[in-house]
Amino acid sequence: MTDVAIVGAGPTGLATACELALAGVSCTIVERRAAEPNITRAFGLHARALELLDARGMADELVEQGNPLRTVHPAYASTVDFGRLDTRYPMLLVVPQSGTEQLLSRRANELGVQIRRGAAVTDLTQDASSVRLHLDDGTELVTQYVVGADGAHSTVRDLIDVGFVGESYDMPMLLADVRLPSGADSPISQVGTEGAVVVLPFGDGWFRVGAWLLRPEETGTDFAQIRRAFHLIAGTDYDMSEPRWCSRFLAQRRQARAYRSGRVFLAGDAAHVNSPIGGQGMNTGIQDAFNLGWKLAADVNGWARAGLLDTYHAERHPVGAAVLAMTDHLTRLALTGSKLRLALNRRIMAAMLHTAPGRKRVIGTLSGLEFSYPPDDPGAHRLIGRRATDRRTDRGRLYEVLRSGRFVLLTDAADPAEAWRERVETARPQDGLGPEAVLVRPDGYIAWAGSNAGVQGALIQWCGQATPTDTGRRSDHAPA
Ligand SMILES: Cc1cc2nc3c(=O)[nH]c(=O)nc-3n(C[C@H](O)[C@H](O)[C@H](O)COP(=O)(O)OP(=O)(O)OC[C@H]3O[C@@H](n4cnc5c(N)ncnc54)[C@H](O)[C@@H]3O)c2cc1C
Repeated sequence: MTDVAIVGAGPTGLATACELALAGVSCTIVERRAAEPNITRAFGLHARALELLDARGMADELVEQGNPLRTVHPAYASTVDFGRLDTRYPMLLVVPQSGTEQLLSRRANELGVQIRRGAAVTDLTQDASSVRLHLDDGTELVTQYVVGADGAHSTVRDLIDVGFVGESYDMPMLLADVRLPSGADSPISQVGTEGAVVVLPFGDGWFRVGAWLLRPEETGTDFAQIRRAFHLIAGTDYDMSEPRWCSRFLAQRRQARAYRSGRVFLAGDAAHVNSPIGGQGMNTGIQDAFNLGWKLAADVNGWARAGLLDTYHAERHPVGAAVLAMTDHLTRLALTGSKLRLALNRRIMAAMLHTAPGRKRVIGTLSGLEFSYPPDDPGAHRLIGRRATDRRTDRGRLYEVLRSGRFVLLTDAADPAEAWRERVETARPQDGLGPEAVLVRPDGYIAWAGSNAGVQGALIQWCGQATPTDTGRRSDHAPA
């Protein structure tokens, strides 16, 4: 019996599988599509998703493939400056979703993940110890846990009946990947009373163009409609040509009421969908995967504390709700239908981005860097639940030390985590900042911080009892 079945080999399902396999948990992905990869769809990775990929050694390759933009000029504001973010990745990295998926897929293969392509889940039953998945090829899969990462129209979500609350936007979005004449190498965004258009360069001669028409026309091909929309809104179609992909879809803002039902979890678009303005969909899904992966692995490997699996919903549902609210707000700011209102909205946004708290709120949320998982205990150390910023240690950067998928204990003390060596790396911080000891979770958030005297208690709380014969079931494929 495979430990965990993941439904869907999109970016969320692949990232979850990599996390599980890295921790030695066997997993099988069931994917309806017979061939890889997904069409391009998402075009951008924000800083926090890149940091998490860096924590597994996968970010720099993507940065090389993509087009890192320090500033963007979206419909809702004149300029959004990612270049000042305190991160190794102060950018919006424009890279097609297929590039991210191919990288994750390659890593999943290296880690021994089974991917069953061309099979769709049609039914699911669960009891106290297992979940039984029924596939459309007549076979069944019995596992300990299931992760529904099967996208916006999730079958798993329907089967566990947790609802998908929200609404659809009533204007369709038109998207295409096209060629533009040379010279057009910067992002372009234009808004008007008819709607909004955007042009984003992938950096390899291809461009993602998008148009959101307040009064959509239904005649002609999708490509003809997108060119017409550009003429209406921007006064030009920038001579776009050679569409390699076109799509027309109604964006939605919806969220599952619960991300967990018994032994079944939801992640990515199966759990939440939002307006594409802000480029958040895939980024949020990857972060769900990193949050859920180590917790499920801890449970399967037998050392998760009681209630750990419930913290997935407790931590990620509010983040999903905040992303929905923000992208909805930005969409309404950009698509007003009134020149006056639009000008006013852009001024308000410009004023907000002029202040440090405003920048922190808008750019911190867009980049994902500002999200944290505050503990229930009001007396807890202020760092607990916050994102661990990268820092120098005697073993390299913190995010390099995280690449084994284990916790990282930052301390100067002589290895107090020796008895937990299968679950915890120890490193000495080189910058001398902060409390005596900091325990960083495998997903790069701070589990605990305090004095060296409290380390053993924190290790027991987060990493279970130490076992002298702890051999773990860890994969041998942790990246260097
Ligand atoms: C047209 C379009 C444009 C978009 N543009 C952007 C953008 O610009 N920026 C952005 O951030 N996001 C964008 N998104 C959203 C982004 O693509 C998603 O957020 C992202 O793909 C979510 O990843 P996921 O892995 O959760 O789901 P998906 O990528 O949807 O993957 C789900 C997988 O599950 C499989 N599956 C479904 N049902 C079953 C079943 N019953 N059994 C087995 N397998 C199943 C599917 O074949 C699919 O491969 C766009 C989405 C669309 C539709």
